[in-house]
Amino acid sequence: MMVDLRSDTVTRPTAAMRAAMLGAPLGDDVFGADPSVNALQEKIAGMLGFEAALFVPTGTQSNLCAILAHCQRGDEYIVGQMAHCYRWEGGGAAVFGSVQPQPLNHQPDGTLALADIEAAIKPDDAHFARTRLLALENTLGGKLLPFDYVKQATALAKSKDLSRHLDGARLFNAAVAQAAQTGSNPLDEARRIAQCFDSVSVCFSKGLGAPVGSALCGSREFVARAHRIRKMAGGGMRQAGLLAAAASYALDHHVNRLAQDHALARHLADGLAGIEGLQVEAPQTNIVFVDLTGEARAQSAALLKHLAGQGIEATGLYRLRFVTHLDVDTGGVDRAVAAIRKFFKA
Ligand SMILES: *Cc1c(COP(=O)(O)O)cnc(C)c1O
Repeated sequence: MMVDLRSDTVTRPTAAMRAAMLGAPLGDDVFGADPSVNALQEKIAGMLGFEAALFVPTGTQSNLCAILAHCQRGDEYIVGQMAHCYRWEGGGAAVFGSVQPQPLNHQPDGTLALADIEAAIKPDDAHFARTRLLALENTLGGKLLPFDYVKQATALAKSKDLSRHLDGARLFNAAVAQAAQTGSNPLDEARRIAQCFDSVSVCFSKGLGAPVGSALCGSREFVARAHRIRKMAGGGMRQAGLLAAAASYALDHHVNRLAQDHALARHLADGLAGIEGLQVEAPQTNIVFVDLTGEARAQSAALLKHLAGQGIEATGLYRLRFVTHLDVDTGGVDRAVAAIRKFFKA
């Protein structure tokens, strides 16, 4: 059995999810006539407290539609250096929308300092791009943004007339971690986080375990603009209800169980503690980062090869990343830990 810790995107739909897909009523969503897509859009919008939502094939397209629906040519969005919608999406907002990013360095906890955000907002002057949007990401690299910070940063943006977009690819991981802190429930926390923003993108294809798909939520008018952009981006899918049914099943059955992924990430981090040359970052959700230091750095590629030889997959080079999800269990993580310990004779 392979232990694939590269990403939470690698999950295969469960038997029950496949059954939900096969049973889904279908229609042509480009005509707005796929009942399963329509039901999913209403469900996720309702869950997060928005008027409307749009089902899109990928999180990348969701963020692109959001940025282009918020911004015009010559506008800019404030975003973190390590944010997916700046660093990992091929510069799409600039390429397709002539919208320039204004990246800011992150604080160690993943936040963007309020003073940095404020200083980056340009005055209305012909020299400058028009600052239009603040884009945050939660979780970011597996880190939960402190909720007080989310409230402050989004209030600051609003006071400066900026729109606010959340890349919540892993919003439900954030919600589950936040619920563990507050003693509330994950759906309430997801909604509390989402309601700080004008638009929110969530991925169904990560920890939620659906094969494909994201949703972009916002006001009816915002979603209508995003819908036009999705069409231009080639994201109008036909009998997409097959996929929407999987996403809908995931929302019903795979949110609360994310707590298990978080516990498993902690189990992995605990198992790797105390190995010389490994600096393990305590995980807040389902992602464990391990920095190789000193002499261990030179062994990085050999370690990954050693693991791959035993069917254990991870990514990274000097900073390794292990992601827990629906398709790994304690036995798999224990095998990974044992293989790493063996490699380092620890
Ligand atoms: C995965 C991810 C996306 C989008 O990913 P796709 O592969 O395009 O679906 C966007 N933002 C974040 C934070 C992500 O982790």
